[in-house]
Amino acid sequence: MKVTGKVALVTGAARGMGEAIARRLVAEGAQVVLGDVLDDAGKAVADELGEVARYVHLDVTSTEDWAEAVAITEREFGRLDVLVNNAGILRFGAVTADNEADLRALIEVNQLGVQWGMRAAVPAMRRAGAGSIVNISSIEGLGGGAYLTGYTATKFAVRGMTKAAALELGGKGIRVNSVHPGAIRTDMVLSQTGGNEQAERFIASKTALARMGEPDEVAAAAVFLASDDASYITGAELSVDGGASASSGFKE
Ligand code: NAD
Repeated sequence: MKVTGKVALVTGAARGMGEAIARRLVAEGAQVVLGDVLDDAGKAVADELGEVARYVHLDVTSTEDWAEAVAITEREFGRLDVLVNNAGILRFGAVTADNEADLRALIEVNQLGVQWGMRAAVPAMRRAGAGSIVNISSIEGLGGGAYLTGYTATKFAVRGMTKAAALELGGKGIRVNSVHPGAIRTDMVLSQTGGNEQAERFIASKTALARMGEPDEVAAAAVFLASDDASYITGAELSVDGGASASSGFKE
C-alpha cells in the first residue's frame, strides 16, 4: 500500500474528487481527516470509512477552521503528513460582467483557501518531520478558459504558489506539487453540462483520450504525489486531463 501509516487532511472531501481522494488514501493505508462545509455528506463519507477517518467542518476561507482542523488531526491521529488542498468553486462570467461577489469568492476559496491551508499545515508537518502538500489546480491553471477569468486567475495562482512553497519548504522535507485535472465527472462539471450528451461529446473531442475523466483517476495522481513514491518530486505540475493540455490549440 502506497501511504501506510500516513495521516492526511483532505479539503472539499464530502463529494467529487475530494471524496475520491479520501477514499483512495484510506484504501492505500492512510488515516484521513475529511474537511468540507457540506457537513452531512462529509460525515456520511467519514462514517462509512470507519475508524481510520474523521470529519471536520472546515471552511477553507476560515483561518480559525484551519487551526481547529489541524489540531483535531493531530489529536485524533497523532500527526499530519499529507495535506490535499482540493476544495474549490467554479463561477463563469464575462470579463465585462458585474460579478464582483463571484470574483471575490473565487479568490477567497480557491486561492486564499490554499494559502491558509499550507500556513496551518506546515508547522504540524514540521512536527511530523516531513510532509507532502498536493494542491488541486486545474487545466485552467495551465491555460485560460473563456468566461473564466476569475477561476483561471485563481488556478494559475495555485500553480504559482505551489512552486514558491516548494522552494521554501524543500529544505524542511516538505514537498509541494500541483495537480491539473481536465474535465472530470463531478457535480462541478455535471451541474454545468447537466449530463447533456452533446456537451460531453464536445469535452471528449478536446481530449486525446476522447472522454471525460473520473474522480478516481485524479485521486490516483494525488495519492502518488502524497506517497513516498514521489520522494524526489516537488514544485511539479501533473496534468490529469486525458491529454487536453497537450494540444497546440490546432488539434484535430
Ligand atoms: P465539487 O463541486 O464536486 O466538490 C467541491 C467540494 O468542495 C464540495 O464538497 C464543496 O462543498 C467543497 N467546498 C466548496 N467551497 C468550500 C469551502 N469554502 N470550504 C470547504 N469546502 C468547500 O467539485 P470537484 O470537481 O470535485 O472539484 C474539486 C477540485 O477540483 C476543485 O478545486 C476544482 O476547482 C478542481 N477541478 C475540478 C475539475 C472538474 O472537471 N471537476 C477540473 C479541474 C479542477
